[in-house]
Amino acid sequence: MPVQKKRPAKVGQPKSVVTGGAGFLGSHLADLLLKRGHKVIAIDNFVTGTVDNIAHLGGNPNFKFIQQDVTEFIFLDVPVDYVWHFASPASPIDYLELPIQTMKVGSLGTHKALGLAKQKGARFLLASTSEIYGDPLVHPQTEDYWGNVNTIGPRSCYDEAKRFAEAMTMAYHRAHGVDIRIVRIFNTYGPRMRLNDGRVVPAFIGQALKNKPITVFGEGKQTRSFCYCADLIEGIYRLMMSSTNLPVNIGNPIEMTVLEFAREILRITGARSKIVFKPLPQDDPKQRRPDITRAKKLLRWEPKIHLAEGLAKTIDYFRDKV
Ligand code: UDP
Repeated sequence: MPVQKKRPAKVGQPKSVVTGGAGFLGSHLADLLLKRGHKVIAIDNFVTGTVDNIAHLGGNPNFKFIQQDVTEFIFLDVPVDYVWHFASPASPIDYLELPIQTMKVGSLGTHKALGLAKQKGARFLLASTSEIYGDPLVHPQTEDYWGNVNTIGPRSCYDEAKRFAEAMTMAYHRAHGVDIRIVRIFNTYGPRMRLNDGRVVPAFIGQALKNKPITVFGEGKQTRSFCYCADLIEGIYRLMMSSTNLPVNIGNPIEMTVLEFAREILRITGARSKIVFKPLPQDDPKQRRPDITRAKKLLRWEPKIHLAEGLAKTIDYFRDKV
């Protein structure tokens, strides 16, 4: 296997580039990197990210922001040690509305971000997703499961873009020796999600805070496992600093049905909302729970924040927004 010419300089202040740096997870990652002493360049085109997520970093001499679409050539005339590729719409209604941008950022954007890592001799981390497992036939999902994706369904723009992104990342690793990491992110929640992004956490919290009906899709029997953003970002940081090139699931293995989740939101908010049932979107995965054995073993990581605690912080954040 070819060896990448340069490796991250292990001396001096580490320098990180975060694509999607104004997004929900990208901005939390930028905060953590700054706390751990990195210089951070965040890149975002604000398709789904927002300046509000990074406004608190204005004036920080270690933080720089570039407004750019990462599907275009990324030119930076400074050294880079780590590239964290987080740019992408990530909620089902966003990628249904933006299918072509979603496919472009997963393919062309990943290509450009890998090209940057190769040119700088930087280590590269791809933010992949549990969606690469599709509607999984193996439960819980282990990293060696290849998935069950409908290539022509409404979610395929996201699922296949991320599958392509993983393949492209491995091709740069094999052909150019780029030092890569792949994290498969499971459902994550926390402050800085958009209230209207359509995902179940902001949707139910927004509805509960307005005492409006809670819209459970299908019969609410489908399952998800929710990870608080701070836990997730810590796991991803450990992955980047580890020595493994294997994909690693990061998420919370505590699984519940969507109906149970709706009841939990009602309990915590004390809302008087009714639960109403709406049609289940096409190809909505019936079950999802990460097997995190690999993360535990290789990264000594597991989530620490209980759902009630994480939801309380998230609800506080949304109180000002509704
Ligand atoms: N969901 C729901 N009501 C909503 C939004 C979502 O019942 O108002 C369900 C959705 O059908 C899915 C689960 O909640 O089964 C999680 O959806 P989300 O959009 O958060 O992300 P996904 O895990 O499907 O990518």
